[in-house]
Amino acid sequence: MPLLEDNKVVMELRWDPILREWVMVSNVREKRPWHPRSFCPFCPGSPEMGYGWRIKIVENRYPMLTENPPEIDKHWFYLKEKAYGKCLVVVETPSHNLDDLSDLGVEDIRLVIEKVIELFKKYRDENWCKYFLWFRNKGEEIGVSLKHPHSQIYILPFIPAKIGRELESSRQYFKEKNECLFCKIISVEEKDNVRIVYRTKHWLAFIPYYAHWPFEVHIYPLRHLQYIDQLNPDEISELASTLKIVLAGLKNILEKPMPYMMILHQAPVDKDYPYYHLHIEIYGVYRPSGKMKYAAGMEMGGGNFTYDSLPEENAKRLRTMITQKILSRS
Ligand code: ZN
Ligand code: ZN
Ligand code: FE
Repeated sequence: MPLLEDNKVVMELRWDPILREWVMVSNVREKRPWHPRSFCPFCPGSPEMGYGWRIKIVENRYPMLTENPPEIDKHWFYLKEKAYGKCLVVVETPSHNLDDLSDLGVEDIRLVIEKVIELFKKYRDENWCKYFLWFRNKGEEIGVSLKHPHSQIYILPFIPAKIGRELESSRQYFKEKNECLFCKIISVEEKDNVRIVYRTKHWLAFIPYYAHWPFEVHIYPLRHLQYIDQLNPDEISELASTLKIVLAGLKNILEKPMPYMMILHQAPVDKDYPYYHLHIEIYGVYRPSGKMKYAAGMEMGGGNFTYDSLPEENAKRLRTMITQKILSRS
């Protein structure tokens, strides 16, 4: 039998036995049609999008994962699994020309968060669901081709590799010290008080001591919790305003808007992880000079980042921008 039949749709998870992590493999995405530059699939009016919405969740039309994955044949050595899951797009506003999430009103950002929570509740009990990853890519520099403000949700049948590492270190720390590693980091950042960029009653935003990306901001709820559906209405509203302010700070700190990735880190849903602490990570990828920081040979090949300024200096820049410009404006 030939190893690869013509036109065969392959969608599967391949296990990297060396790095011990899953790779999502699909040849469906290659068949993605090219639209003229003026066409926007997320604008109101198409049959799929309709009219009269403020936020709309649609299925990714070329997903890596699906609720009905194709059958897989076994490999004689390597491990693979069916690509169970779901890839969704959160169209955050009907307005095509808004640049960023921070350009939405606080109330609209709150609605986006609530929509994500609603989806999390809907899928967390699916038998194939192990992890719910909400993330946002912003900026052409990091490969975003569709300008219409949107974020994405991957509902995964496995625990993402990075989350796995965070779980392992926080589990170890809790075992040794009987306290949450993340709560500890919050208190250390409070005490050092040089990397904080913004704080509210319920949230703390800072560039961590160990930041990888030039403007890497982590946002933590002060309350120790694991899942986004544990946030109370007050915490949700404050998260909306915190995101608006921090992202507006990143947008305005340099001459051009900062490209970034934003990811919600919460605990997996397959069992309880009481030692984990939900947070949001934002990776602002421009250096203070406005030049792009790439993850290249050292970072991707070696696995360790180089940081060629100081987190403390960049935190001061961002804090100053937020307190002197962003807050006085709103
Ligand atoms: Zn649009
Ligand atoms: Zn904690
Ligand atoms: Fe994290």
